Amino acid sequence: MDLKLFYTGPMQVNTYLCVNEETKKGFLVDPGGPSMALDQYLESNDYDIEYIILTHGHGDHICGVPYYKEMFNCPIVGHRDDIYLFNDAKENLSTAFMGAPIEFIPDIFVEDGDMMEIAGMKLLILHTPGHTPGGISILIGNILFSGDTLFADSIGRTDFKGGSFAVLKKAVHTKLFVLPDDTFVLPGHMGTTTIGHEKKYNPFL
Ligand SMILES: [Zn+2]
Ligand SMILES: [Zn+2]
Repeated sequence: MDLKLFYTGPMQVNTYLCVNEETKKGFLVDPGGPSMALDQYLESNDYDIEYIILTHGHGDHICGVPYYKEMFNCPIVGHRDDIYLFNDAKENLSTAFMGAPIEFIPDIFVEDGDMMEIAGMKLLILHTPGHTPGGISILIGNILFSGDTLFADSIGRTDFKGGSFAVLKKAVHTKLFVLPDDTFVLPGHMGTTTIGHEKKYNPFL
């Protein structure tokens, strides 16, 4: 598995590319905007993106969606409870970020516990609301894409519309802290961590 991090879009969000090197097919997590570095990497490796998965609907994570959807003609995956963000530029702040509104409805809605198989890779979707109502985390093997739910020694803001600290705390404890301690956490911003480290040291939880 080829897993690579790119910083994309107005806030330089963590965008993850995950590809099965044998089939050269894979998925993209949270394209925050068009990225030359990502485009060059995809092209030079002849990679094909089969799905774009969105951890939530904030503009810093979704402004690359139309660009990469057109490039790969692939479905967008998200949680229904963030439609009010995906499909409303005023709510997702994309106009402020990009100078043009980004609005769309995901092609595939996922729920907590859903399994997806992409190019032979098995993904488990975990609904982790609190930062936004439709926030999801994605588990693949011992790697967790945590979006803005869980950061290294921190958590996502819960003071935006639709956010709730109590809901986020419950989601982290019931969905994420039950994972093995050595689970790698790849958040939407800043550096990586592990579940074991966050269980022990995260000051917010
Ligand atoms: Zn966010
Ligand atoms: Zn973010």
